[in-house]
Amino acid sequence: AAWILKCYTLLGADDRDIQMGYIISEGLKMLSLVFLSACLSVVLGYLSAYVGSSLSRDIRERLFKKVLSFSPAETDGFSVASLITRSTSDVQQVQMMTVMLMRMVSYAPIMAIGGTIKVFETAPSMWWVIGVGVLAIGIMLFTLMRLTMPRFRLLQNLIDNINRISRETLGGMMVIRAFGSEKRENERFKSANGELTSVSLFVNRVMGVMNPGMNLVMNGTTLLIVLAGARQIGRGLLQVGDMMAFITYSMQIISAFLTLGMISVSAPRALVSVGRIAGVLEAESSIKDGPEDFEPQRRGEVAFENVSFSYPQSPVKALSGISFRALPGTVTAVIGQTGSGKSTLANLLMRFYDVQQGRITIDGRDIRDFKLTTLRDIIGYVPQRSLLFSGTAGENIAFGLESYDEKRVRAAAADAQADRFISSMEGGYGAYIAQGGSNLSGGQKQRVAIARALAKNSPVYIFDDSFSALDLKTDLKVREAIAQRLSKSTVIIIAQRISTVMNCDNIIVLSGGKIAGMGRHRQLLETCPQYKEIALSQLSEKEL
Ligand code: ADP
Ligand code: MG
Repeated sequence: AAWILKCYTLLGADDRDIQMGYIISEGLKMLSLVFLSACLSVVLGYLSAYVGSSLSRDIRERLFKKVLSFSPAETDGFSVASLITRSTSDVQQVQMMTVMLMRMVSYAPIMAIGGTIKVFETAPSMWWVIGVGVLAIGIMLFTLMRLTMPRFRLLQNLIDNINRISRETLGGMMVIRAFGSEKRENERFKSANGELTSVSLFVNRVMGVMNPGMNLVMNGTTLLIVLAGARQIGRGLLQVGDMMAFITYSMQIISAFLTLGMISVSAPRALVSVGRIAGVLEAESSIKDGPEDFEPQRRGEVAFENVSFSYPQSPVKALSGISFRALPGTVTAVIGQTGSGKSTLANLLMRFYDVQQGRITIDGRDIRDFKLTTLRDIIGYVPQRSLLFSGTAGENIAFGLESYDEKRVRAAAADAQADRFISSMEGGYGAYIAQGGSNLSGGQKQRVAIARALAKNSPVYIFDDSFSALDLKTDLKVREAIAQRLSKSTVIIIAQRISTVMNCDNIIVLSGGKIAGMGRHRQLLETCPQYKEIALSQLSEKEL
């Protein structure tokens, strides 16, 4: 180099000018490359954020749609808490992984390949040093993976657990207060929380080894390069500048491998989440839609034919050998002690569950032939627990309607004896109803739930213990209004009170999931001891 410099001076060239020119031109090239790379980084960051959030939005949407199609059997199978974790925390894991993959995986191989090419250009004799570095990283990552992998599934399950306990506690606050069991609940939460923390800490500690480990490998490699390089420089085989360049390139290669490695360490967590999400998306509802082309008549003749059923994971039969008919224009009552299977009857008619033996028909067709939406359009259902939704009173009543119809809503509310109290609320039909209807009393909720079903004008109605929270006078008024309004429909009333059922056209007495008696009031008093027992417990001999 000194000799060439002398030649330049002899030739009259200014070596400072030459050097400066070189530095400026190369420097500008470098600066523009850095600028370009910064711009691309921004674009890449934007794109990956966009793809990540869109992906998680789509996954959440599909999860939600899927869960809506589930029958209670599947929801119970996954558990509500787990379904929530799966559509929040698990989706987030997948989103994070996607962003990371896009940002790094596109970048790391380019750095690795570019670095390798450069290394072979500058000092091919020293590539083995890089080999050693990459190997060290490989061993480190493999160990980390072995340690953390089994913990990841556990981690998501523990989050499920926390969600489950929080849901239960927050939902049951009043009962917890009333029974003074805050301490026990607190303990329960503490132990679940502690478990989650310790697993999470373990995983993070293991991950914490990564950074220092990375530094160790990088500095070790530099040291090796200097050691090996110094010898070659001494022998005049290598220039100092080339050695510095070699160090830079090898750092790039190693950090590229590290990035890839880091992704492969965190990938298992995302994979666990992917599996949990796929589990939901791939689950099929056990309740299948009927064939597309079947258009039912809408007369509303309901028949149970030798129906037997037991709940999933329950060994006892909730219903066995149930047969009866309910005709349009009649009122059928179902009475029986709690746990005798009355609500189960309604659940089967609504196809929340499918019968295991026998069949249920409407107008002579098995209800499994109906499209689910059609079936549920045919039946007006008032559930035992009156569940309302956040929104206005009017919206809650128009819940089953395609569009809001003020006249229908008001008429239904009037028949359900809900008109008076709704009108007296602030805002009337526009009054706000809190989530679950928690700002209404039990009887008010029940009346709104009855109005919601009545507004639908269905050929079949089933009221599952829907008058239980009403006082006797309101109960009577509602039933009178219903009898008038639904005089052409098939009405099934599940009830506890003799006064509610005694004037019905047909009374079914359920006991332990079997029909203990069927007929009219007078007839049953004589033939059915269970009925007589219920009757006598509520009315005196004289009233009967
Ligand atoms: P009723 O409405 O007459 O009070 P149900 O029809 O609700 O009674 O319940 C009938 C039986 O089925 C009861 O013994 C109850 O324990 C059982 N049962 C109800 N729901 C479920 C369920 N989701 N899973 C398992 N068993 C259930
Ligand atoms: Mg019930």
